[in-house]
Amino acid sequence: MPDPVISIKGLRKSYGETEAVRGIDLEVNRGEVFAFLGPNGAGKTTTVEILEGYRKRSGGEVTVLGQDPGRAGREWRERIGIVLQSGRLDPYLTVRESLDLYAGYFRASRPTEEVISLVGLESKAGERTGRLSGGQQRRLDVGMALVGDPELLFLDEPTTGFDPSARRQAWDVIAGLRDLGKTVFLTTHYMDEAQRLADRVTIIAAGQIVARGTPADLGRREEGETTIRYRADGREVALQTTTPTQTLQELTAAALARGEELAGLEVTRPSLEDVYLELTAASEADG
Ligand code: ATP
Repeated sequence: MPDPVISIKGLRKSYGETEAVRGIDLEVNRGEVFAFLGPNGAGKTTTVEILEGYRKRSGGEVTVLGQDPGRAGREWRERIGIVLQSGRLDPYLTVRESLDLYAGYFRASRPTEEVISLVGLESKAGERTGRLSGGQQRRLDVGMALVGDPELLFLDEPTTGFDPSARRQAWDVIAGLRDLGKTVFLTTHYMDEAQRLADRVTIIAAGQIVARGTPADLGRREEGETTIRYRADGREVALQTTTPTQTLQELTAAALARGEELAGLEVTRPSLEDVYLELTAASEADG
């Protein structure tokens, strides 16, 4: 049985004339990594801030960990971890001191050394935070959100500005959170990140949900057209097909009969990014 940690029905938010969120429904189940994707200005931050209890909604129903975030108190807040867009920490405190200090705000906290190892900062535990690299800072930001040992974590673009290896390491940290049984609500602009980490993905554009599903089946990607490319007589050939097995069989059989190699043979399906661009472009054209 799915156990919803977040449930949204008909959520609306207007800023004056601007309708930032125009009636969205969604559920996030306990223990899943849920990715919320959408172009700039789609309404992601607005939605997340409502879920965190930092912003009032204009309409609809919202339940987070069994309570209305607009009314919930301190006990509820301690069950939620929020990673802010890069932290404003005292640059003269060390990593360990910063985490210890923050732990003092919680009634129950996860031991500092455990947090340090969860985010892979063991070698920097005694370093002043002002001397950390950008990627290490972000890891500490995630660490700060873990101090209170929350059930639910909001990660807002957690790897923006990371180099490729720091991103992979951050992905390991996020995958580790799922292994601990945490529920993760992730907003991101990176399709590969959603693909790699998310159990389910929802795409919002212009305040409305335009697609939802697992990364694999989103937008019926598995059923979409396959492209077969190769070179023949110095030309690039690209074929679209919904029956790639059959088409490939015919192509390769004919090439073999002629004793030819199909140079540069490539078989591809639309990537999550292709599907995303198509869905969000269609909605922006409507809007
Ligand atoms: P991004 O990917 O750029 O962070 P987003 O999906 O998080 O975008 P929001 O920040 O939720 O988008 O903004 C949605 C819409 O609401 C935008 O049109 C934005 O201009 C508008 N908006 C957001 N905050 C406010 C505010 N405080 N006052 C007025 N309009 C706002």
